[in-house]
Amino acid sequence: MPTPIGHALGGIAAGAFIVRRAGWPCRLAGRRVPIVLVFALLGMLADVDFVIKEGHRHATHSLAAAGAVGVVAVFVAEGRPLLWLASSAAYATHVLLDWLGMDTVAPFGLMALWPFDSTYYQSSLQVFYPVCRQYWLFDCWVRLAWSVWYELLIVGPFALAGVFLMRHRRVRHG
Ligand SMILES: [Zn+2]
Repeated sequence: MPTPIGHALGGIAAGAFIVRRAGWPCRLAGRRVPIVLVFALLGMLADVDFVIKEGHRHATHSLAAAGAVGVVAVFVAEGRPLLWLASSAAYATHVLLDWLGMDTVAPFGLMALWPFDSTYYQSSLQVFYPVCRQYWLFDCWVRLAWSVWYELLIVGPFALAGVFLMRHRRVRHG
């Protein structure tokens, strides 16, 4: 499973590719927030189940949850269907990246099709390293650093390309 950094990059990549406009105002609690930051947070959001401890990687790690984010976006960003789709896609990258990652804690994988199916799905590709949680060990931090570096190499170019497209559009259209 990727680290939060890998998930943030995935969210930025998907959201940026879909909206490709940095100039859209986005307000949270009355403050203007860069849209890439919103996509990064949406990419990480599924792991909120670590905090609520309702079982990791099921409801929040489903495509249904990604759809629910799109529905919420309908109310938060009225009249901006691309932003609804981008928000949903940014969240869905979390499901995709976790599915592509190695998992060392049972049950392995995630309930991608919850609530229709309670099967845990995990890709055999195992592209991303598992996140080490033995933080008191030096070796764990070395492995985390390696994981982040690997995620930067794999997901980073997509996020950079998305941000480049957003900036390019903004310059072209003033
Ligand atoms: Zn996750």
